[in-house]
Amino acid sequence: MAVQWILICHGLLTMLVTISFLCGQWPIFQGTPIERLHYFLTFGAYDYFLRFVGTVFGNKGTSVIECIEQFCCDRPNPILQIIYLAILGGTYYFVAKSSFSYIPGYYLSDVHIYTSVLAVGVGVLLFLLTSFSDPGTVKAENVSDFLSAYPYDNIIYKEKECSTCKIPKPARSKHCSICDRCVARFDHHCGWMNNCIGERNTRYFLAFLLWMTCSFVLSTYYGVENLSWFSSPYCMWWLLGSYNTQILLMVFLAIVSLLLVGFFGYHAHLCLTNTTTNETFKWQDYTSLQKKMNEARTSAAAPKASMSGLSRETKPPESKSKAFCRRSPIENAAFSMKNQYDKGLFSNVYEVIFPLSTRPSFVQRKPKSR
Ligand SMILES: [Zn+2]
Ligand SMILES: [Zn+2]
Repeated sequence: MAVQWILICHGLLTMLVTISFLCGQWPIFQGTPIERLHYFLTFGAYDYFLRFVGTVFGNKGTSVIECIEQFCCDRPNPILQIIYLAILGGTYYFVAKSSFSYIPGYYLSDVHIYTSVLAVGVGVLLFLLTSFSDPGTVKAENVSDFLSAYPYDNIIYKEKECSTCKIPKPARSKHCSICDRCVARFDHHCGWMNNCIGERNTRYFLAFLLWMTCSFVLSTYYGVENLSWFSSPYCMWWLLGSYNTQILLMVFLAIVSLLLVGFFGYHAHLCLTNTTTNETFKWQDYTSLQKKMNEARTSAAAPKASMSGLSRETKPPESKSKAFCRRSPIENAAFSMKNQYDKGLFSNVYEVIFPLSTRPSFVQRKPKSR
C-alpha cells in the first residue's frame, strides 16, 4: 500500500479514537457508533481486560489490577503529569528534528525557532503553576474567609458541615475524595495536573488553557501554510508521500487544536457566567429532580382533575403568576434558575483573576463564631 494511504488511514483512525474518547458522551453522539466506541474505550476495554486477567490468573490477578487502578485513579499521583510532560517534550523533539531544517522556509522566518521555545516554556511554567498552587484548601484557620466570600443560595448550597473534615462547608466548596480535603469554589479534580482546580488556581488553569490553545492553533496554521505552496491535488499527493512526518504532525496538531478550542471555550463560558463544572452537574441533577417531582405531582393530580371534570365545574386556567406563588420559595428560586453568583461579565472575570477570599474586604469581615 502506498505510504499516502497509510497516512490517510492513520489520520482518520487517530481522529476517530481521539474524538470518541474525549467527546463520545456528548449529546450529539448519543446512539451513534462514536458513543459505543467511547464506552468501549473508557469502560468496556478495561472490563474485558479484568475478566481476561481473572480467567488466566484467578482472583489474585484481579485484586492486583484493582490495587493498581486504585493507586492510579483514586489517590493523588504524578503519573498523568509525567505522561503530559513526556507527550509535550516528545512532540517538541519530533517537530525540532523533522521541521526545524525547513526554517527559514517559504513563509517562516528564523524567529519561529525562538517563538516555539517560548510557546513550550511558558506552557510548562503555567502547567507547573497550576499543578503546585493551592486551589483554595479549606481549613479550620481559613474557613471564615471562604464563608464570607460566598453566601449560601439554599438551592444547591445549604449550610452544613463536611462529614470528613468536620468543619463548616462553605458555599461553592466540595470535598475532593482523591485529595481528601475541602476545596473552595471547587471546579474539578484534574488528573493531568494532579491537583484540584478551585477558587485560587482557576486563573492559572485558564491561562494555561488559553496559552496552549493559542500555541497549538498558531503551530497548525504556520505548519499548514509552510507546506501549502504545493497547491495542486497532484502535488498534495506527492507531499503526502514525501513529507509524511510533517503531515502526521499537522494532523496531530490540528486534532489537538480543535479539542483545545472546545475545552477552552467551555471553561471560558464557565468563567464568564461565574459557574463551575461541579455546579453545572449540580444544576443538572436539581433540574431533573424538579422535573420528576413535577411529573409525579401532575400524575397525582390527574384523577382529581377527572373527578372535578365529572362534576362539570370548569375553572378558568390558572395564571402564570398564581402558579409561581403556589411553589415553595426554593422551587421559585430554581424556577427563575438564576445563578446567584453571576454578577455580570466583567465582575465574573475579575473574580477569577482576584479571588474573593483573598481580598482584604472579605478576610477582615469574618462572621461571628458558629
Ligand atoms: Zn472536607
Ligand atoms: Zn483533588
